[in-house]
Amino acid sequence: MSLSQSWIERGNKHIATTYGRYPLVAVRGEGCWLWDADGNKYLDFLAGVAVNNLGHCHPKVVQALQEQAATLLHCSNYYHIPSQIELAEKLCEHSFGDRVFFCNSGAEANEAAMKLVRRHSAENHGENRFVVITALASFHGRTIGTISATGQDAVRKGFTPVVPGFRYVPFGDMDAMRQAVTKEVCAVMLEPVQGEGGINVAPPGYLKAVRELCDEHNLLLVFDEVQVGCGRTGKLFAYQHDEVEPDIMTLAKALAGGPPIGAMVAREAVAATFVPGTHGSTFGGNPLVTRAALAALDTLINDGVLENCVAMGAYLRQRLEDLASRYAFAGEVRGRGLILGLQLEIEGAIFVKKALERNLLINCTAGKVLRFVPPLTVTRAEIDQAMDILEPLFKEVSQEG
Ligand SMILES: *Cc1c(COP(=O)(O)O)cnc(C)c1O
Repeated sequence: MSLSQSWIERGNKHIATTYGRYPLVAVRGEGCWLWDADGNKYLDFLAGVAVNNLGHCHPKVVQALQEQAATLLHCSNYYHIPSQIELAEKLCEHSFGDRVFFCNSGAEANEAAMKLVRRHSAENHGENRFVVITALASFHGRTIGTISATGQDAVRKGFTPVVPGFRYVPFGDMDAMRQAVTKEVCAVMLEPVQGEGGINVAPPGYLKAVRELCDEHNLLLVFDEVQVGCGRTGKLFAYQHDEVEPDIMTLAKALAGGPPIGAMVAREAVAATFVPGTHGSTFGGNPLVTRAALAALDTLINDGVLENCVAMGAYLRQRLEDLASRYAFAGEVRGRGLILGLQLEIEGAIFVKKALERNLLINCTAGKVLRFVPPLTVTRAEIDQAMDILEPLFKEVSQEG
């Protein structure tokens, strides 16, 4: 039995069965490459689902972690933490925000946002104005609160009753959005590009029209940038592609270059609603992850990573469009920067499986959309290598009918 097989057997006995895992045992990563327990090497175009934006084990992130680990690992938020302060400064300097709440995941960042909009509304507009409008096919996390916010019935199945106060509208449909605004509504929460829902980019002008609607009705606008923030779309934050700013933005995934972190960035007038005792997190913003995030952000902003994302995003998109144009079962290529989806007419699982067998890691969202989210540091040669795997794979699937 291979080392990988023996790990898989052990994992199957004691790991919670929440994931249908692929047969890959990951032990080491460097740049766009991942190695398994038997020494096989994989080209990683999933990048921890848009977490490893700087590739695996970016030297600056690793160095920051090593130094901080040997200095101060954890400290309570009852005290002040320099790296947390510096990271909040950086995030505010580069965004619309004035204050940052730190936590440990995307779901927690969205929980913070949902608590903040409710409390802000209760204080400014009275009780019974607590409904948050979200989009169908959205994804906001796996806690009871965030599955309530997520516009997909499947994630709530078996977990009812969920948290009341969410209303779902088709993404990109301004008429539906207008109709959903009643006197009970306090906020709108959207992903500027829907990740899990199939790589759906907000149509031109949509986010701006939503912003205007929010202003008209005194609603807060929340952008969930957990997947598409931190450079993924070619700008530091996805909202920066549109002439629009939210009141609140949530971040997680790639923010610290790998280690777990979440953040909720808000405007002063909104953020001030959180007074001592209203919210908190033991680990949130701890010295280790915030030091890593400072190194990651610095690299993202100053080392040409965003520029590479734009250039390589355009190149990968063109290669995927070219590939898709030759097969009847392949349709539109969607996305922005280096979050790209290839729409299929057939189930995508077989492509993911075959790609893995040929040492390329991709995945599939919304059943029929192949998702490509390589590290933003990916090279042209690496994209060529990925396409050299995908081309024959598409041909094979077409011949199998
Ligand atoms: C991944 C994701 C989340 C949830 O993040 P976790 O860290 O898994 O809790 C929330 N929103 C979006 C848009 C995501 O892609």
